[in-house]
Amino acid sequence: MPTCLIGFGANLNDRRQTLEAAASRLAQGAAVRVTGRSRWCATAPIGGPSGQGEYLNGVIRAETALEPEALLLLLQRIEDEAGRRRERRWDARTLDLDLLLYDQLEIATPRLIVPHPRMEFRRFVLEPASEVAAEMVHPTTGWTIQRLFDHLQTAPCYVAVTGAPAAGKTALARRLAESVPARLIVDATDGPRVEPVSNEPPGQLTPLAVELQRLERRTQMLAAAARPKSGETLISDFWLEQSAAYAAKRLANDDLAALEAAVQRAQSRVLSPKLLIVLIAGASERQREVHQILARRARAAERCPRLLVRSDSPPAAYEEAFAAIEAMR
Ligand code: ATP
Ligand code: MG
Ligand code: MG
Repeated sequence: MPTCLIGFGANLNDRRQTLEAAASRLAQGAAVRVTGRSRWCATAPIGGPSGQGEYLNGVIRAETALEPEALLLLLQRIEDEAGRRRERRWDARTLDLDLLLYDQLEIATPRLIVPHPRMEFRRFVLEPASEVAAEMVHPTTGWTIQRLFDHLQTAPCYVAVTGAPAAGKTALARRLAESVPARLIVDATDGPRVEPVSNEPPGQLTPLAVELQRLERRTQMLAAAARPKSGETLISDFWLEQSAAYAAKRLANDDLAALEAAVQRAQSRVLSPKLLIVLIAGASERQREVHQILARRARAAERCPRLLVRSDSPPAAYEEAFAAIEAMR
């Protein structure tokens, strides 16, 4: 039978009793067999309306005969039975049950996304999950739960913001740096965009040279920044790999290979992100093109936890990104 992980949370009423009752209710039928249960951990509320009470969070591991969609329906029924109201996002709740993992499946429908899209950087999920499913692989990053949790515990807090051209990376990075608060690295001298090779004006830098300069400038900025100490955060309005995504359709193959190699070398010289924030913008064709390539690269195995956020509402993107950084603490 497939193995699943379910995140439990509550911050209203008698939290412990609600969580215990929900765990028993889940195991009641023949469809779900609970095989592991973490402790209930007290955690600070993150995101949503202010003034909320502390949470109790935990994770249950189970085997199930239910398909993912049917399991989600069961979880929502148990939430409803516990008096869960859904008015504002991330509001206080009697019970929250999230489907974190379902074997190695990756699902993205309007109603269900698995792995849960914010589990890979949330301490209140990874800490209890590591008690019951340390060896389970999170299929989108390719990392085990234990590795995700260790990364959270030990990686210096460097957050890279990336996204297509004009997605609002700099504005988001600046706003986050003010409120987190964090040290900020902005590539303010963002040079000319890479134009197709055929348009290369004689006597000027080639598009490859422009990109290599940009990469070198950014690498030096990162290398010069002191490693964030415990409790400190560093934010950049770029991700080194972004260069290769921006140039992918605009450089000749040989040049692109040279740029890719330079990106690899650059990455080995500097701190890698603890969290990658990818701003999704799709207004123009160019944005969609770059985003597709970026998203593919950000998803590739052996990367780091990442958060995808839509850029069309900057306040919503900010709230989402800020909550993600808070959730890593
Ligand atoms: P978060 O998802 O950030 O933890 P939340 O748990 O408060 O926030 P909910 O209000 O419980 O969010 O769920 C909002 C919607 O998310 C639900 O309507 C549900 O259809 C959808 N959803 C998508 N993927 C999942 C999943 N893996 N587990 C639970 N709900 C999901
Ligand atoms: Mg939740
Ligand atoms: Mg939920």
